[in-house]
Amino acid sequence: MSSKSVPVDFRGATVSALENLTLRGAMKTATDMFAVKRAQGVSSIPLEEWRQQASETRCQVLDNLEAMVDEFSANATKAGAVIHRAKDAETARRIILDILKDNRVHKLVKAKSMVSEEIHLNRFLEQHDIKVVETDLGEYIVQIADETPSHILAPAIHKNRRQVGLLFSEKLGVDYSEDPEVLTKIARRQLRNEFLTADAGFSGANFAVSSTGSLAIFTNEGNGRMCTTVPPLHIALLTIEKMLPTLADLALFAKLLPRSATGQFLSSYMTLITGTKKTGEFTGAGHLHIVLLDNGRTDILRGPFRDILKCIRCSACMNVCPVYRTVGGHAYDSTYSGPMGIILTNLLEGMERAHTLLDASTLCGACEDACPVKLPLVSLISALREKRVEMNMGPVIEHFLMKSFGLAAQKPGLYAFAQKMFKKTRPLVNRVGDGLRLDRLPEISEKPMRDRF
Ligand code: SF4
Repeated sequence: MSSKSVPVDFRGATVSALENLTLRGAMKTATDMFAVKRAQGVSSIPLEEWRQQASETRCQVLDNLEAMVDEFSANATKAGAVIHRAKDAETARRIILDILKDNRVHKLVKAKSMVSEEIHLNRFLEQHDIKVVETDLGEYIVQIADETPSHILAPAIHKNRRQVGLLFSEKLGVDYSEDPEVLTKIARRQLRNEFLTADAGFSGANFAVSSTGSLAIFTNEGNGRMCTTVPPLHIALLTIEKMLPTLADLALFAKLLPRSATGQFLSSYMTLITGTKKTGEFTGAGHLHIVLLDNGRTDILRGPFRDILKCIRCSACMNVCPVYRTVGGHAYDSTYSGPMGIILTNLLEGMERAHTLLDASTLCGACEDACPVKLPLVSLISALREKRVEMNMGPVIEHFLMKSFGLAAQKPGLYAFAQKMFKKTRPLVNRVGDGLRLDRLPEISEKPMRDRF
């Protein structure tokens, strides 16, 4: 099912992205806005204290993950949900399809879920004659454009409003407008009918509270609440590391996540779902299935890169990353982009496919400073780069040059000879490398340092 076997051509994608001035303009506008809003959002809180507390809670979750997943499953079952465990993407897709077929579902309305992108759910369901309608505005835009999200929170961040206006006019047959309010009203009109006629709703979850068996979903458009309460059946898909111990812990993350993402003090809609709708209740689905997906997380948890599972998908690291801000999410050719995405993609999809993404970081550390759970992103990327060298995966020329340097550095005579040779061949190197990176090599000093002492 996965089409993700082709190695990521990050360098090639970067060149195309840099030439796309519309993309660069849209990225700059959006990420600048996020950065300013985040700075405003965190200015009024004891940020370091909250970050420390959030980091410790996430470490505690990882230390007790299996027990917390069991506790969550038991409590959610008690509240009326049906729990499914899926070890990989294929199993999760099959479980979801079986639930939909058993309930004779023809149309599914979806709230935004990056995990469903990770397992390529939409394409699979459509191949089995189930109509899937994305209802988050950004997801709806990329769905009708036949694209994939380029940001985990703002899927259509790479498009400006003129492009959205043209898209709506072409695909929905409406008059062209680039007024965001008009465009939002058009999408809302289209989606309202989909909500009312859907057989089932689908969502992810920002967190799962193990002590109560509750799902916490934060949205800004209200579509999450529509998907989880209007249709009679609700399926939630989440990865196992989304656990939090208690509702008291959730309170901190409910304040920290939106501030880190968009600068909002709280998300517009915070939905807490504990089991199915009970007698006398007015909202909620009559049937709730929760699919807990592993898809490599248990292996990551046992290894040296386990800290990446602390991530709460706030997107702060992406919004401040100079590489992501310039080239956008599609260049990463992965569900997850930005600094967090570099690490996660290498761990989930393998370094054979994704190691070129390790170059998508300047290691400036802006991502680490912004991360609300103090994830050591720079150290993790550096450690993966070391692993790439050990696995002989880097560029051949880099490998050759580093090996040669290593040899020469151990033999002073050889080093001095290489230095002299390089100085002599430098004009030729510059000519060959003109316009490439070779002509940026520093000038060799007239007198080497060691001859000065
Ligand atoms: S790594 Fe940190 S900053 Fe980046 S998305 Fe995850 S929690 Fe947010």
